[in-house]
Amino acid sequence: MTLEQLKKDVRNVPNFPKQGIQFKDITTIISNPEELRFMRDKLADAYRNKGITKVVGIESRGFILAPAVAIELGAGFVPIRKQGKLPAETIEISYEKEYGIDFMQIHKDALGPDDVVLLHDDILATGGSMLAAVELIRKLGVKTIYANCLIELEGLNGKRFLADRGIDCDCMMGIEVDE
Ligand code: AMP
Repeated sequence: MTLEQLKKDVRNVPNFPKQGIQFKDITTIISNPEELRFMRDKLADAYRNKGITKVVGIESRGFILAPAVAIELGAGFVPIRKQGKLPAETIEISYEKEYGIDFMQIHKDALGPDDVVLLHDDILATGGSMLAAVELIRKLGVKTIYANCLIELEGLNGKRFLADRGIDCDCMMGIEVDE
């Protein structure tokens, strides 16, 4: 298994969910057992020596690999969810989506000062979601946050957007947004 192969197998779905969007569909790579394992191992290996205590996934496609990686690292899994989904006391942050403002939430007691966090999502596009998630986690006063995405959509400058705000987001592969 190689990264090149993995990259090739991400399915591009034109005009989903609306006209003009090239949707990068990862269901084709997570349904392949070798590719699923490859991604899990590669991700876990990159963070094995960092003392990660919690892997945080961003709803919903961040929930696919994050728990698998958490188990590999001997860490716990924590969800960041859309507004109104988490049952206990939450903190929230607003962020800009294509059509206005949205909110993401995390349980207030999910993370604390002893935590070293690996934050994961499937795709980095503009970087707005990742920035909001980092800022949300920072409110809980954790020790360190490592940001990670499976795929960077090249051409949207998400990595630069985050770097300008002091966040180094590591991505396993880059795919041209219009590819
Ligand atoms: P952004 O906040 O612009 O970085 O968008 C990132 C979020 O939107 C991630 O959770 C992605 O799953 C999703 N996303 C954005 N663009 C795409 C795309 N072209 N294909 C698939 N998912 C996308």
